[in-house]
Amino acid sequence: MKTKFIFITGGVLSSLGKGLAAASIGALLEARGLKVTFQKLDPYINVDPGTMNPFQHGEVFVTDDGAETDLDLGHYERYTHAELGQKNNYTSGRIYDSVIKKERRGDYLGGTVQVIPHITDEIKQAILQLEGDADIAIVEIGGTVGDIEGLPFLEAIRQLRGDLGKENTLYIHVTYVPFIKAAGELKTKPTQHSVKELRSIGIQPDILLCRAEGPLSQGIKAKIALFCDVKEDCVISARDVECIYEVPLRFHEEGLDDRIVQYLNMWTRAPILTKWKELMVKINEPHHKVKIAMVGKYVNLKESYKSLNEALFHGGVANRSEVEIDFLNSEELTGDALRKRLEACHGILVPGGFGTRGIPGKIEAIQFAREHKIPFLGICLGMQLAVIEIARNVANIRNADSTEFTPSTPEPVIYLMKEWFDYRSNRVEVRDENTDLGGTMRLGAYPCRLKDGTIAKAAYGVDEIFERHRHRYEFNNAYREVLEKAGLIYSGLSPDGELVEIVELKDHPWFLGCQFHPEFKSRPLNPHPLFVSFIHAALTNKMGVQGEA
Ligand code: GLN
Repeated sequence: MKTKFIFITGGVLSSLGKGLAAASIGALLEARGLKVTFQKLDPYINVDPGTMNPFQHGEVFVTDDGAETDLDLGHYERYTHAELGQKNNYTSGRIYDSVIKKERRGDYLGGTVQVIPHITDEIKQAILQLEGDADIAIVEIGGTVGDIEGLPFLEAIRQLRGDLGKENTLYIHVTYVPFIKAAGELKTKPTQHSVKELRSIGIQPDILLCRAEGPLSQGIKAKIALFCDVKEDCVISARDVECIYEVPLRFHEEGLDDRIVQYLNMWTRAPILTKWKELMVKINEPHHKVKIAMVGKYVNLKESYKSLNEALFHGGVANRSEVEIDFLNSEELTGDALRKRLEACHGILVPGGFGTRGIPGKIEAIQFAREHKIPFLGICLGMQLAVIEIARNVANIRNADSTEFTPSTPEPVIYLMKEWFDYRSNRVEVRDENTDLGGTMRLGAYPCRLKDGTIAKAAYGVDEIFERHRHRYEFNNAYREVLEKAGLIYSGLSPDGELVEIVELKDHPWFLGCQFHPEFKSRPLNPHPLFVSFIHAALTNKMGVQGEA
């Protein structure tokens, strides 16, 4: 398969939604029958985002192959059928790391190792790995044009036009057209400057995506076209939308996908956008509304639970329900204040997390959900805490804990498993407290067998599932029996039966904890079964026995 490349850069300021624009372009090209793939190039020095604070950087998105990636990969996967992994996200750190390793090995034969050509060649190689994967590879450069650290990436994509030819490469620049109240008009100057900056590096954009509060008039488009040297019909309005899933349809109305295939000299069918249109009808005309309490630590920042927010939204849409999320910070809220807020919600969710902060509040929330029979979904850390709560308060194991919070606990119901069979590496893994932190994570998609007659089995409707993991600690099998007696149901296990992947609770309408992160696999056009089922349970809880919304 001959692959053509679209390079997406950003100008003026960050947060213009470059990632969503890239994802939406992917959706439109797929709708025309093309196969797409993506790559995100991040200029920062961290080798990958795995170690970055989600507060600063947003969520770490995990792929099937276990790569810890930028959250934009989540957008790409949500909008398309692309299956992404290690080679779809590179940082400057990873590029430099590889060049420095080669230098130490003597691969450069004593030559002076420089940004151009060594770093840029390494970047080009990373990009060209996508050749053959799809008809079109959409490559997004993180950051804003003009940033010092982004320069090698821009130089690399500049060179690629020469290497690959004009009809195999396309430059799309996402820029901003602010509305200045005092003047009462939209201003094109920031866009002009940003394109000037890009041209000074040697890149002439083919298409401009202009973010603005409202649509751009023909006059404004003509002005931008003239000053930036792009065709008038290639100045595309990217106006603010209420819902992010509207973007592909809006772009199509502006003729974006037509321009793209024209530039790349490709013949395709007209896009089939029925599913996206039906989705928007469902989103715009909900029949119900539920409120879900999300009890977490990074609750102030929506970006840090990006996929989770989206998955809840998808689960809502599938039930024709709006989902309002009440973000509760378990470090600040406990006791009566916490209960009051929980009482106003129809479902309670405890998401993944690391470290000891905010743990008691989360356990209180789980106890509340268990005792008041409120639908509860615990994800990763949320499942581990549910096990701890039930061990402490139902099985009466007062000191039950995770060795993550209390390394010397006498009752480690959650612990570091010393030896386990890893389905990904296909061998027995060994680890202990002294193993390097990064190396001990269970990362990526693992198989899980579902037990008949459980919520999980009913939701998925299949015997075996693959879900994505990102954690170190596991359920301790020494407690399986006593916790089963206390009402715990092991509804999902690894194929060898050794790893507890899903737990449920007897005599509760909907209580489920999973060791994996289902949110990474939820799509607007294919909502995740656990979220569909959870929101359904929350709606049932809201309606009560009468069945009235
Ligand atoms: N901190 C827990 C672990 O490492 C849970 C991680 C998570 O929620 N992703 O096992």
